[in-house]
Amino acid sequence: MTNPKLKSVTKSSQNSNVIVRRKPAAAVKTAYSLAEREEIFRRFSIQRPEPRGELEHTNPFTLVVAVALSAQATDAGVNKATRALFKIADTPQKMLDLGEEKVREYIKTIGLYRNKAKNVVALSQMLADEFGGKVPETREELVRLPGVGRKTANVVLSMAFGQATMAVDTHIFRIANRIRLAPGKTPDEVEDRLMKVVPKQYLYHAHHWLILHGRYTCKARRPECERCVIADICKSPEKSSDIPAPLVELPPQVIGEAVE
Ligand code: SF4
Repeated sequence: MTNPKLKSVTKSSQNSNVIVRRKPAAAVKTAYSLAEREEIFRRFSIQRPEPRGELEHTNPFTLVVAVALSAQATDAGVNKATRALFKIADTPQKMLDLGEEKVREYIKTIGLYRNKAKNVVALSQMLADEFGGKVPETREELVRLPGVGRKTANVVLSMAFGQATMAVDTHIFRIANRIRLAPGKTPDEVEDRLMKVVPKQYLYHAHHWLILHGRYTCKARRPECERCVIADICKSPEKSSDIPAPLVELPPQVIGEAVE
């Protein structure tokens, strides 16, 4: 008779008496306990109760275009160019009717505009041909669109379809490694780990909180630990203060504004 107590850790082979030990579940790689992670994000949620992306858009299609245009550009710069563009072209078909040359004219104030105009027209074509003019709601389909990478897809899934995603940008990548919240060598690795270590109830807004924390406090060149609300919990070897800043709600800050 099997010893029920052994059931969870061992398995008897049917043909021999060899005891096979189950592999332990992979440990979540983070320097913080669940209670510490909950406290970190609880404080972020008090500082910034309603963080939002600042890219202007009128529907999922214009959001995809705006996010694709925002690579290596500020949200404010993209908004300036797209306001006029989206007035006349807010669907894939209208963008196709406008044509690459005119799209280029509208967005010429944005960096890499030639290539971006080409991608906007190509992605409009694919949406019209393969998706009935609608923006798909899965990451696998979104990344097939020209000019749409994993990060863009994550932003679209989050902002247009309300899915919890982690679009790892330079700030999130730095913080995850610097404070050892979810260390990883590549953005994809960091993304996977953050999705596991951020407590579920905070996952939807987590990427905005981390971006803003990186932009305004845990800055690239010198983290401003004396202004940091998690200074007492932070385990970064770079930190210069143990005293947390007062936990108060901050005035709205623009996520896409270039500060550094
Ligand atoms: S204490 Fe310093 S290093 Fe740690 S998260 Fe805050 S700003 Fe960053």
